[in-house]
Amino acid sequence: MAKTKIIATLGPSTFDRETIKIMVQSGVDIFRFNFSFTNHETFKEYHALIRDLEKELGRPIGIMSDLHGPKVRVKELSPSPMKVSKGETVYFTSSLSSNSEKYIVVDFKEFVKDVETGHLILIDDGKIKFQVVKKSRNYVEAVCLVGGEIKSGKGVNVPGALKSLPIMTEKDESDLLISLELGVDFVALSFVRTASDVNKVREFISEHLPEGRDFPWIISKIECKAALDNLPEIMQESDGVIVARGDLGVEISLPLVPLAQKRIIRLAKEYSKPVITATQILESMVTHETPTRAEVSDIANAIFDGSDALLVTEETSIGKYPIKVVEVLEEVASTVEKALPPFENISFKRSPIARSVSRAAVESAVELGAKSIIVFTKSGFTAKFISKLRPQMPVLAITPSIEVARKMLVLFGVDYYVTNRRIERVENIFELAEDIGKSRRILDKGDLYVTVAGYPLWIKGRTNLMKVSIVE
Ligand code: PGA
Ligand code: MN
Repeated sequence: MAKTKIIATLGPSTFDRETIKIMVQSGVDIFRFNFSFTNHETFKEYHALIRDLEKELGRPIGIMSDLHGPKVRVKELSPSPMKVSKGETVYFTSSLSSNSEKYIVVDFKEFVKDVETGHLILIDDGKIKFQVVKKSRNYVEAVCLVGGEIKSGKGVNVPGALKSLPIMTEKDESDLLISLELGVDFVALSFVRTASDVNKVREFISEHLPEGRDFPWIISKIECKAALDNLPEIMQESDGVIVARGDLGVEISLPLVPLAQKRIIRLAKEYSKPVITATQILESMVTHETPTRAEVSDIANAIFDGSDALLVTEETSIGKYPIKVVEVLEEVASTVEKALPPFENISFKRSPIARSVSRAAVESAVELGAKSIIVFTKSGFTAKFISKLRPQMPVLAITPSIEVARKMLVLFGVDYYVTNRRIERVENIFELAEDIGKSRRILDKGDLYVTVAGYPLWIKGRTNLMKVSIVE
């Protein structure tokens, strides 16, 4: 299996038990529910199915809820789907109009108030463009500049406008509540603009998390200019980030997207946070069985930049070849990873003791030619540091909870092992590491390995111990 983790969006192409099962066996680590297109009934059904498959296959599978966020989307339209061509007039409104002309209802009440004559209205990641020519009380009249086909649920951007949107809409709150009720491993936030957006959601989760349930990792989608302006603060407050190239490419000019990708990934390294690169990863495979050279190159570069995971969207939600997409990702990633350097030296911005011990562990492992690095981690904290240093040998993270094992599915190169074995004395740590390493067949007699842990064991955020051992 590739070290780069794979996140696949579920949708009509993949709402099927057998398909999901094959996708897991082909390398998917985490499934993403995009609440812009998924209703609660479908979410419940496939959430239960994934948890069931997890038992059947005997391995953790992550679930990510992706909230629609303060993004305006097409709610209803007539006709649906709607084909528009250059020069045509369309009416935008936030309340259903009886207009006999073509109209688009968007899901933001203040839309008409916030939009002015001359503004551009961009639909579906900017693929379709309109310009506002006239504004009335209940609707705006816009002329099509670039045509195409519009479907319900597609995003609507008005660059420079719609600043008053709150981070969570009523719909987001209800989508988040059902996610917390059923239990998800990651909550992805669309259109985060500030660190305070992240904190508001963290507070909401704290207030509504059912008792005894593990706190999901909050993953901020970096997809608007404001987020780029506030990136270090957002990085600090989030458990991970997504380079959401779709909307980013609408908010900033396209040549700036790869530069933003590099900067986001670089910062994620310094803050030791997982980073996911998303959108148009294998766009051509929505309709074709093989990828383009450019797509394969892009995947390789995303891995060289330092992505922990790749997130496919339409490729697996509405594409014709969802399983093939996963196979291509696996093949490209596992080939490219062999060309990475033995490890990466990173100046982490936080946790001096943890980062120093982690670096010492990885540097020793590389210098001594260790067969593997075994990490004891309660919350995934230590595993995040080790993963960012990208050691060439396998990393096995031992944790007492399956909830944390599922979260570590987003960390590059980290494999997991869940144990409820009690550890009384410090020697037990190394005995357990060796036992598990052998049973996982990553350690054999005479092999050298490095153990990293926090002692006393299972206290969050205390990485203070490393040991070099040789299997007896
Ligand atoms: P979306 O996010 O698919 O929810 O729009 C991804 C992106 O914008 O790249
Ligand atoms: Mn987006």
